[in-house]
Amino acid sequence: MLRKIVQTCLVGIVGVMLVGCVAPAPETVSKSAPAYSVSRAEARLGPVQRRVEPVAERYCRASLPAGSNCDFNIRVDPKADALPNAYQTIDNAGRPQIVFTAALIAGARNDDELAFVMSHEAAHHIAGHLGRKQRDAVTGAVVVGVLATLAGASPDALDSAMDVGATVGSRAYSKEYEIEADRLGTVIAHRSGYDPVRGAEYFRRIPDPGNAFLGTHPPNALRIDVVRETAAGL
Ligand SMILES: [Zn+2]
Repeated sequence: MLRKIVQTCLVGIVGVMLVGCVAPAPETVSKSAPAYSVSRAEARLGPVQRRVEPVAERYCRASLPAGSNCDFNIRVDPKADALPNAYQTIDNAGRPQIVFTAALIAGARNDDELAFVMSHEAAHHIAGHLGRKQRDAVTGAVVVGVLATLAGASPDALDSAMDVGATVGSRAYSKEYEIEADRLGTVIAHRSGYDPVRGAEYFRRIPDPGNAFLGTHPPNALRIDVVRETAAGL
């Protein structure tokens, strides 16, 4: 039974966890920022990418086991009307992707903000957060599935209990991962020649998720403190 639970869970969860990091959508930015076409967004991101990418790839190669894919593909979401967002994921060939929407780029006040967001997303890959979230989700689902089975749950009830378990599991360390990515992102942005403290001012303009139980992101004020503290030590 346990093996079946793990198998079911793995199949379901790998599909759910493709997106690594989703920043909270900054509605305040989208209202005030001018709309950018995808090509304009690419043109604005290019100079930042040329400085951050080599540094991120160097950190990646130094941190991950030999043979890991550190060839970041940094790109703009082709959907021009997508909400302000940036995220990290891995394509089918295992290549790490960092995706910005045009709206996020349009809403950035300076290159330090773009460099910080880019470095934060690269840090998620370097720290292996996507794989760790998948394992957290599987663990959560298995624990809940075993408990539900022992309690005599019907197959339907077991399925929904495991979905809940997967969600709880995947979020259990989500805020810690964000803080880790902010710390390493601060270092990468700094080594790329940008000011991460100025870059983290971005957090002042996005909705604050607060400290919600099982929320995916930590409070913005805490994140700014982490960046300041890390930058002070560089
Ligand atoms: Zn993140």
